[in-house]
Formats: sequence, C-alpha cells, structure tokens
Amino acid sequence: MPVAVILVAAGSGVRLGATMPKAFAPLRGEPLLAHALRGILGCREVGHVIIVAPDSHLDQSRVIAGQRVQGDHPRVDIVAGGSDRSASVKAGLSALGLDDRIVLVHDVARCLTPPDLFSRVIRGVREGHPAVVPGLPVSDTVKVVDDQGRVLDTPDRQSLRGVQTPQGFLREALEDAHVAHPATTSSTDDAGLVERAGGQVWVVTGDHLALKITSPFDLVVAAALLQDGRYAG
Ligand code: C5P
Repeated sequence: MPVAVILVAAGSGVRLGATMPKAFAPLRGEPLLAHALRGILGCREVGHVIIVAPDSHLDQSRVIAGQRVQGDHPRVDIVAGGSDRSASVKAGLSALGLDDRIVLVHDVARCLTPPDLFSRVIRGVREGHPAVVPGLPVSDTVKVVDDQGRVLDTPDRQSLRGVQTPQGFLREALEDAHVAHPATTSSTDDAGLVERAGGQVWVVTGDHLALKITSPFDLVVAAALLQDGRYAG
C-alpha cells in the first residue's frame, strides 16, 4: 500500500512572531520546512510528499524541496493552502495520486519528528487500523475549566495522551471524515474528524522530538535539541 504524506505548511506563524510564514522561519540556519523534510525523507516507505504551502511561497517551497530530494523518490508536489488548517489538508487531499492508499497528515511545526515515528504510524495503519495517531502520556495534571476559569473536572491522568502528528489513515477514512466535516469550522486534528464521523482511532507511542513549535520559546528548545546531537539532527 503506497504511502503519501500531506505536509501542512501554510500557517502564518503569527504566534512565533516571525516576519515570514512559520515554515520558512530559520532554525539553526535552515527553514522549518527543510527540517521537516529531513524526517519525512528518512522514512523510505514514503513514496509521495505533498507540501501545502502559502500561496506566496510556492516557488520557495519548490527550491527547498528540490535541494533535498534526489531523483524521483519520493514524488513531491506543492500546492497552495487554505485559510485554516482543515482547508489546507483538503488542498493536500486533492493532490493525492490514484495509487496513494495510506495518507499521513503532518504539521511542519513538528519539524524535528524523526523517521521512526513515521514508520511506527504507517505500521499501525498497515496492521489494520484505519486511523492512527502518535501520543505520549501527559505529565501535567489536566483540568477542564469554564470560560470564567472555574474548574469543572479533573480527568484521570492515566487515561490522557497528548497527541502529535504524523497522523496516519487509510485514505478513505480521511477523505470521508473531511467530506463529513463542515467547511465552516476548522479542526486542529484530523483524527478528531474521524472520531466525529464515527470511526475508531488508535494511539501508538509518540516521540518527544515531535514537539510542536508554536512560540519563540519552542524555537529555542528546538535549537538546543539540534545542537545537542544526542537528541536530534
Ligand atoms: O494553526 P497551527 O499553528 O496549530 O497550525 C498547525 C499546522 O497547520 C502548521 O503546520 C501550519 O503550517 C498548518 N496550517 C496550514 N494552513 C493554515 C493554518 C495552519 O497549513 N491555514
């Protein structure tokens, strides 16, 4: 079953405080997009990468990908993203090839994600789960609060997982979930759409390196991880 990765990279990066879209912000001298591609290209099972980029940065994305992909494996396509993450994923879905049977959706913001995690998610789908997400136990105690800040509930930490990307799907499960999802509401998590459409989602062990870079603080953490060869790079 051929595997495609939709790499959503069309976010603005406002919270990062960068002057360019997040995927093009530098991290130890390379744009986040280049780091993210390193993890994806390290997983030889991936045969097709669809980079969903801001309309203004399609050419730049092509250059970054061209410098890193040798020959014709994997195939790389670049498409323009939408106004929110769900619209960008939909744009990626429209660029799938006829052969792509397993589809992973990955945030460029998790640009240090190692190849192993892609393989683990793909294995989960190949073993028969139509939707697979990486997740890690939550170390903080989590509270449910109302909009006044009043605590409503304290869920049992044992049963909580912080979920990451790449999230992997049998193509039909992902396409059906996006069709069922109204275009007027955004979603931060594709597996959540599958759940809402009545599908079953499985968790495999995530990786601390798949941290999401949202704030300038996260960028400092990621740079330190890259500098310390024990963890990333
Ligand atoms: O919005 P947030 O920062 O959580 O974005 C998560 C991921 O979705 C990022 O990788 C971002 O580039 C992507 N995104 C996108 N198109 C948008 C908004 C976000 O591809 N319009």
